[in-house]
Amino acid sequence: MVNFFINVQKQIKEDLSLIEGDYPDKVLFKKFSSELLNPKRLIKKNLTIKLDNGKKKTFQAFRSQHNDARGPFKGGIRFHPNVSEDEVKALSILMSLKCAVVGIPYGGAKGGIKINPKELSALEIERLSKAYAKALAPYIGPWVDVPAPDVNTDEKVMAYMLEAYEKEVGIHAPGTFTGKPIALGGSLGRTEATGKAGAIILEEYAKEKKLKPKVTTLAVQGFGNVGYWFSYHASKLGFKIVSASDSVGAIYSEKGLDIPKLLTLKEKHGDFSKVAKALKFKFLSNDELLTLPVDVLVPAALEAVITEKNVFLVKAKTILEMANGPVTTEAYKTLKEKAIVVLPDILCNAGGVTVSYFEWVQNLQGYSWTEEKVNEELSKIMKKAFREIHEYAKVKKVDYHVAANLLALKRIIEAMILRGL
Ligand code: GLU
Repeated sequence: MVNFFINVQKQIKEDLSLIEGDYPDKVLFKKFSSELLNPKRLIKKNLTIKLDNGKKKTFQAFRSQHNDARGPFKGGIRFHPNVSEDEVKALSILMSLKCAVVGIPYGGAKGGIKINPKELSALEIERLSKAYAKALAPYIGPWVDVPAPDVNTDEKVMAYMLEAYEKEVGIHAPGTFTGKPIALGGSLGRTEATGKAGAIILEEYAKEKKLKPKVTTLAVQGFGNVGYWFSYHASKLGFKIVSASDSVGAIYSEKGLDIPKLLTLKEKHGDFSKVAKALKFKFLSNDELLTLPVDVLVPAALEAVITEKNVFLVKAKTILEMANGPVTTEAYKTLKEKAIVVLPDILCNAGGVTVSYFEWVQNLQGYSWTEEKVNEELSKIMKKAFREIHEYAKVKKVDYHVAANLLALKRIIEAMILRGL
C-alpha cells in the first residue's frame, strides 16, 4: 500500500525546492524545510473504555500537531480502521497548507482513533469520544489546538468531546472544538460548508474555462457529509452529476441524478446497490466510477484512491479533490502528463475549516452570526483563494496543485521567519 505520509513529504520536498531561490539565508531555509516535513508534536494514547457487554477494550488514538507558526493547530479527528500514526502525520501537514491557502490564522493538526465506528454502539462511541478528549486535554484549547469533525465524526462527537474537555479543565471553553451542535456554540452553515465551498470552486473554475454547467458532467465518489453537500450544491448550480457512490458502489445515470432524492432513498434502502435497483439505474463499482468519461471527477471520500495503478484509466478532464489527498504523488505526475487538471484538496475542501474559523471567532466573541453572513464570508474567502492560486499559477507557469502548495508554504515560512524561530 502507498505510504501516504512519505508521499506528502516527497511532494513538500519538491515544492520547497521550487521556492528555495526566494530565500537568501540557506541555513535558515534548510532548518524551516526540515521542520515542515514532520509534525512539531505527535501524541499517541491507548484509550481503554468499557463496552456495553461489561468487558474492556483498548483503542489506539493519535493527534499530530504539525505547525503553529500562523496560529493555533487546527484540524479534524477521524474514526476509521485505517487511522495510523503516518496517516495523521500526513493529514496534519495538509491542514497547515489548507489554512494558509485560505488565509485563516491557524496552523495544522489531525487526530484519529483506529476503529470501525460501525462496530460500536452509540454509548460506546460516546465513552470513546470522551476518553479521547480527556486524554488530549493538556494538549488542546482555543489558543493551542482546535479539533473538529473529520471522517466518521460529527457534531455529536464534538459535543461529547467538549463536555469531557470542559470537565477536565473546569471552565467553559467552546472555542476548543468546532463543528459543534448549534445549541453548544456551533455555527450556522458549518455542516454543509465543505461541500458548498467545493461547489463554489467548481463554479469559479467553470467560469474561467467557460464551461457551461448544464453540459458539464460530474462523477462524485463518496456520499458522506462532504460528497453529499458538494453534489447537492453543484447540482443546484446547474452541473450534471451522472454518477455518485457510497462505500458499496456507484449509481450511474446519463440524464443526471437527483441528489436529495438519492439521500432519501439511501436512508430508506441502506446502500446504493439497493437504490440503483429501486431506480433501475446502472450500478458500478467504486473503481469503475473513477474511470468514467466525465468532465469532472470528484473524489470525496478517502485518500490515495487514484494511484499509479489506476491513473492510466482516468478519462476525466479535470479532477476536483474534495477528499484529503485522494491522488498520490506518482499518480499526479501521470495526470500532469495527460494534461488532466487537478483542482487541489487544500483549496477545494477548505470551506469546512473556514467555517470552523467563523465558529471559533463567534465563540471567542460570545456572539453568533446569521447563516447569510456565514455564507457571504465563506464565498468571499473561497473566491479570493481561487483567484490568488489562479494568478500565481499563471505568473509562475505552474499548475493549480503546485501553485496552492507554494503559496501556502511561503505564507507559513513567512510566519516562521517573523517569529525568528
Ligand atoms: N476535517 C476537516 C478538514 O479536513 C475540517 C477541519 C476543521 O474544521 O478544523 O478540513
